[in-house]
Formats: sequence, structure tokens, C-alpha cells
Amino acid sequence: MTSYRSRLIARQELAEGTAAFHFEKPDDFAFKPGQAIELILPELGGENRHAFSLVSAPFEDRLTIATRLRDSAFKRALGSLPAGAAAEIDGPFGALTLHNDRSRPALFVAGGIGITPFVCMLRHAAKLRLAQRFVLVYSNRRPEDAAFLAELEELAAHGEGFELVATMTQMSNSKQPWVGRTGAVDSELLSQVLGGLSSAVCYVAGPPAMVAAMRGHLNRAGADDDDIRSEDFFGY
Ligand SMILES: Cc1cc2nc3c(=O)[nH]c(=O)nc-3n(C[C@H](O)[C@H](O)[C@H](O)COP(=O)(O)OP(=O)(O)OC[C@H]3O[C@@H](n4cnc5c(N)ncnc54)[C@H](O)[C@@H]3O)c2cc1C
Repeated sequence: MTSYRSRLIARQELAEGTAAFHFEKPDDFAFKPGQAIELILPELGGENRHAFSLVSAPFEDRLTIATRLRDSAFKRALGSLPAGAAAEIDGPFGALTLHNDRSRPALFVAGGIGITPFVCMLRHAAKLRLAQRFVLVYSNRRPEDAAFLAELEELAAHGEGFELVATMTQMSNSKQPWVGRTGAVDSELLSQVLGGLSSAVCYVAGPPAMVAAMRGHLNRAGADDDDIRSEDFFGY
């Protein structure tokens, strides 16, 4: 991994307690959609590094990460970082990248802010007009928590070859209206989705318990272990 110097350009609110952070992209920084970086905050003592998937696609002129702003020393420091503040970036790393065989569709299963690597892949695919089918099953507790939902709905409405299946699992705690699907992602839903796809490669990102559960659900829905991809992201 190579280390790069960068600066925070701006922060952007995405959902409740959830923000994106846009950083300057070093001139020679190259990565594949779906890869991650380690963000280092030099001013923070102790544990001053944290891994994040890149949300911005390779064609974009900045590096964007997104996260829930939970109450940890790192997240507090990140949340109060002023525009222009120095940061270091290690990376890129990670193998959760899009497969090369465009004839095989991609099924993305995302829980909460685990959506980040898929936003990057979908922006990349839309920009390059990749001739490939994508289906995203996106689970959130409430619409208030659903980062990038408007962008994804827009992409599904106007982009070709992309279908969005969004579901909410805790509407009883929501103050926002939602006319879409409710309930957790399970093998029945994944069976329906996979039934319409031929030899899909499946990608899962979200809370660790969800990733583990989705492996079982995807198996029961007919996906082979060899076609299920994920990566461990702990400490969120
Ligand atoms: C490849 C990968 C990349 C990641 N990238 C990032 C990143 O860039 N930034 C970041 O902050 N975090 C990232 N994460 C971390 C991950 O998404 C966190 O664990 C996340 O913060 C969970 O919190 P949440 O509030 O978003 O999820 P929650 O709101 O707790 O859950 C999201 C959804 O998952 C559902 N769910 C939870 N458990 C189950 C289950 N067992 N079965 C079915 N549904 C379930 C919930 O009902 C809800 O609808 C990544 C994880 C992975 C695996």
C-alpha cells in the first residue's frame, strides 16, 4: 500500500447521523471500484486510522468516503474536521471489485452504510455505460437511515440495466413515509431476484451479522459459495 497526503474538501450530510467526506485526490492515486482506503488523521493520538470503502468512482476528481458518525474517538475527530484539514490516505486495498465477465449480472446485497462500495461500482458502470445487468437489494432500518437512496432511485429510473429493490426493516420508528417494500432480506426475496438473473455474481456488504446471514440466504436461494463475495469490515 502506498501513503498519500490529502486534505478535506467538504463534508456532506447523507442521512440521519451519516455523512460523506470529500478529500483531495492525489494526482497518481488509482483504484478499482469497490476498493477501500485507510484514512489517517495525523492530529489524533492513539488509534488514528480507519478503513472505509471509496464511494467516489475512479472518474471523479475527489476521494469520497461515507460513514455513520458513531461515538468513537476517530469518528468524533472526523466529524469535527474543518475543511482544509490535513489527512493521510493509505491504499487502495481490497478485492471486493466488480467481476470482468460482463455477460454475468451482478447482485449487490447492502445493509445500511455497507452501500458504499456498490455506489462506487454503480456510478462507474453508469459513466462507462457498461453493458451489464445490476440488481441492488438495499436494506435499511428506516428511510431516514438510507444513504444515497435518491441517487440510486434516479439511476434505476433512468439508467439501463439497473434494478433497485429497497426495503425498510423498522418502519415503526420512522417519521418519513415509505410506500416500498418492508421486512428483512431473506432467502425468499433473494430467490425471486436470482430467479430473474442468469449466473449472477453476488456481493454482500453491511453489518457483520447481516453479511453472515446473507451467505446462508443466498445459498438457500441457489447461489453457489464460489459466486458470493464479501469482505470483513469491523470496528464500525
Ligand atoms: C465490504 C464492506 C464495506 C463497508 N464499507 C463501509 C464504509 O465505507 N463505511 C462504513 O461506515 N461502514 C462500512 N462497512 C461497515 C458496515 O456496513 C457496518 O457494519 C455498518 O456501519 C452497520 O451499521 P448500519 O447502521 O449501517 O446498519 P444497520 O442499520 O444496523 O443495519 C442495516 C440493515 O441491515 C439489516 N440487518 C442487520 N442484521 C441483519 C440480519 N442478520 N439479517 C438480515 N438483515 C439484517 C437491518 O435490519 C437493516 O435493515 C462496510 C462493510 C462491508 C462488509
